[in-house]
Amino acid sequence: MRCRFAPSPTGYMHLGNVWTALLCWLQARRGGGTLVLRIEDIDEGRSKKEYTRALMEDLTFLGLDRDEGPDAGGPYGPYRQQERYNLYEAAIERLKRLNLVYPCYCSRARITSVSGAPHEGELSVYDGRCYGLTEAERRRQRKKPSLRLHVPERSISFTDGLYGLQEEYLPTKCGDFVIRRADGMYAYQLAVTVDDGAMGITHVLRGRDLLGSTGRQILLSSYLGYQTPKYTHVPLLIDCAGHRLSKRQHGITVRELRAEGITGRQILSYLAYKGGLVREACLYDPDRLVQQFDIRNIGVKDIVIDADPIEAIKYFGH
Ligand code: GLU
Repeated sequence: MRCRFAPSPTGYMHLGNVWTALLCWLQARRGGGTLVLRIEDIDEGRSKKEYTRALMEDLTFLGLDRDEGPDAGGPYGPYRQQERYNLYEAAIERLKRLNLVYPCYCSRARITSVSGAPHEGELSVYDGRCYGLTEAERRRQRKKPSLRLHVPERSISFTDGLYGLQEEYLPTKCGDFVIRRADGMYAYQLAVTVDDGAMGITHVLRGRDLLGSTGRQILLSSYLGYQTPKYTHVPLLIDCAGHRLSKRQHGITVRELRAEGITGRQILSYLAYKGGLVREACLYDPDRLVQQFDIRNIGVKDIVIDADPIEAIKYFGH
């Protein structure tokens, strides 16, 4: 059993990230598996080394150890995406040889206008205009192209560990999707699939906001010849107004909580209780959380965090 926690270092670790990290850790420890820490820093503009350093420090403070990762080392490294570009390029070469990718010259404005403006969180559906271009037409383009993967006309289904049977028909969900942007940045879908595959990950656990990406990753993984992992998506932490916790919110980063004298054990116990993993509002050692861990106890509804997390966690269990 190989599990992974794969944060993007675009800010200081907050309760939402701790919740996912805790569940990845519990899943691995309960199952006697290996936990991999992978730093997802392909977005070079938004990722910062300082956040990566702080993240590893915060995990250690929380008592969430890992078996492989940038600091722990391991046989499947490197564990930072910025050091894995050669693997993504090799995957693209393989997809090209299979005739599954094509260059796309469409502007963002055109894509938005043909797909209608999607609501927040919705995907725009690409109409495939550049799929049929001839070599001569491609040569006439002045723009640098992005690369798209052509999706098949069949449904992709999988059973999520919490949300159950899922079925996705990619042609109407997103159409042919980008695997490398025109500016050279590798798409999340490609990088994550290559990494999970090449690192031999057997169990993926992450926020339910990524449930809708899984079909594309399963497709890519099968084209690239990887064993598809088992997926479990988990509910998100939300505030009292129903919004996802955001990095801008006050009092939710591990740094802030720690500065208030709050311990890692308090943070993990609070989240375990709020998330339904334990029934008593008291302090638990991480090992006890492992013994009691049953993912089905968390349900599928998002988890509401107290309006003043510092107050709530400081006095939690007293
Ligand atoms: N790096 C992504 C994030 O921090 C998670 C990717 C994944 O778990 O597949 O949101």
